[in-house]
Amino acid sequence: MVTAGQDQTAGTRPSRRPTRSRVRHGQASCADYGCLRAGCRQAALRARRRRDSDRAQGLAARVDPTPAALRAAVLVRRGMSAQDIADASKIAVTSVRRLLRPPGRRPVRIARSTAEAVLGVPLPRRDQPPGPGRGQLVLQVRLGEAVVARAAHVAPVDRLGDQALCTSGH
Ligand SMILES: [Zn+2]
Repeated sequence: MVTAGQDQTAGTRPSRRPTRSRVRHGQASCADYGCLRAGCRQAALRARRRRDSDRAQGLAARVDPTPAALRAAVLVRRGMSAQDIADASKIAVTSVRRLLRPPGRRPVRIARSTAEAVLGVPLPRRDQPPGPGRGQLVLQVRLGEAVVARAAHVAPVDRLGDQALCTSGH
């Protein structure tokens, strides 16, 4: 019978610790088993902070859809269909269609992965003229962006500028 490891914990092993446990002092699980050593309790505290941080990042995994919606509108204006954007970004076409809705009818938050996928679609060349009605969509997107920009005290509209938003064909 191998009993390695028992010496390291002899005398401090609480009853909850499994007999064959390989947990050592300094590991978070050691404190979970009831060990009161400072190093073990600190390890447990660090582990808990890491879990809290992961959870916080999980919340941030859902983001404002406006930048992706703006990008999608520009892609449409450059001649791409919702299906084209879905194919290029590898997301569902229904997700693209939701982004293409007017600001008030869009999802409040979308998955960060969805937003990044749309933002990563390269712009097609400018030689395709905008289709009918698309200028209106861009205008709606721009209004939504302006509201968000004002709320956030940043100016993404200005940053994107005419290059992304101008509806004339130059
Ligand atoms: Zn310990």
